[in-house]
Amino acid sequence: MRKRIVRQSGTRSRRLGSCAGRGIRPARRLVSVTDAPEIPVRVRPEVAALPPYKQGKQAGAEAFKLSSNENPFDPLPGVLERVRAATALNRYPDASAARLRERLAERFGVTADAVHIGAGSVSILAQLVQATSGPGDEVIFAWRSFEAYPWLATLAGATAVLVPLTDDARHDLPAMAAAVTDRTRAIIVCSPNNPTGPVVTQPEFDAFIARVPADVLVILDEAYAEFVTAADAVDGLRTLGGTGHANVVVLRTFSKAYGLAGLRVGYAVGHPRILDAARSTAIPLSVTALAEEAALASLDVEDELIAHVGVISERRDRLAAALRDAGWRVPDAQGNFVWLPAGDETLALAEAFDAAGLIVRPFAGDGIRISVGEEESVEKVLRIAESVVRGLPEGHSGRGLA
Ligand SMILES: *Cc1c(COP(=O)(O)O)cnc(C)c1O
Repeated sequence: MRKRIVRQSGTRSRRLGSCAGRGIRPARRLVSVTDAPEIPVRVRPEVAALPPYKQGKQAGAEAFKLSSNENPFDPLPGVLERVRAATALNRYPDASAARLRERLAERFGVTADAVHIGAGSVSILAQLVQATSGPGDEVIFAWRSFEAYPWLATLAGATAVLVPLTDDARHDLPAMAAAVTDRTRAIIVCSPNNPTGPVVTQPEFDAFIARVPADVLVILDEAYAEFVTAADAVDGLRTLGGTGHANVVVLRTFSKAYGLAGLRVGYAVGHPRILDAARSTAIPLSVTALAEEAALASLDVEDELIAHVGVISERRDRLAAALRDAGWRVPDAQGNFVWLPAGDETLALAEAFDAAGLIVRPFAGDGIRISVGEEESVEKVLRIAESVVRGLPEGHSGRGLA
């Protein structure tokens, strides 16, 4: 007898149709896809409407790559040795990266099931959005913030709700709390905010979380936490340990301060059942044994790494102060990058940097993010930035008040 064909589907209907791009309010298309050849198969309309992925510029041998917030320091010898010694490349990794989870759990005073490891914290973000939000649901975040947020919401089929930053490029948490509806499933708070730089303060975050319904996930993305020097900045891990808001998940990464961007490893700390939901959506075995080993080795040599972080934070403060002295209106910079609100001059300014051998990250019509890189890059950045700010008209968004 022939076996029957079985069709399994979710409980939710996928409302597609003429909804291309509807997931993003008020999205700006950076790239036109209208002149691209037709896709030969049927693709979800919201996916088809996304601009094709374009890799950022690769730096030439002479250029400084200041476009991806990478750590300019080479990996420490102790880390390299441990990675080289991990030779079982024919074996799958441990599915839950248990050794790293236990190590982090011990450090933060939580149980191992309150820690979740991902192939970069972006992959955990994707899992959390996927786990909470689908068609008809809303994901709230500040804008401008990390470029991945609108994209992840759209991919989940959910609606992205973009709440404008304040004039000084900070999260407007009261406005974000006010944007919550009964369709809200997740809120992402980025502190320090990529690409503008300021942190959310602990009192601001505490007041915010008190207003958010307890069944709405709040993701606190702290990718740059180690670089923060502001005394009143929110500390996600302390927040978790404190008042017991079970709906808060904190994200951290080994990509930035720990200099392991190329190996892809990040982690979440939060309620084990929320993390179980994230784990259920994860692509299995994507955290490699090399990445886990490198993260463990980095924790072993943390003092040296933290010394590097101190160098970067000091360099950042010096760069931001000099840019302000030159006349730029640079928001408080708490990550490993500074923000130039260049507005309409953004692309022209990016070209001037490019011509000087400095690869920076322009956001057309808005501003330029410059990562704090090698010491030798600082003078060059200042020289170009100074020459341009003098040409900005009176009242331009990039001009400082001084
Ligand atoms: C860099 C970054 C991340 C993390 O990147 P991974 O390399 O995937 O860990 C997460 N959030 C923000 C805001 C970032 O800038």
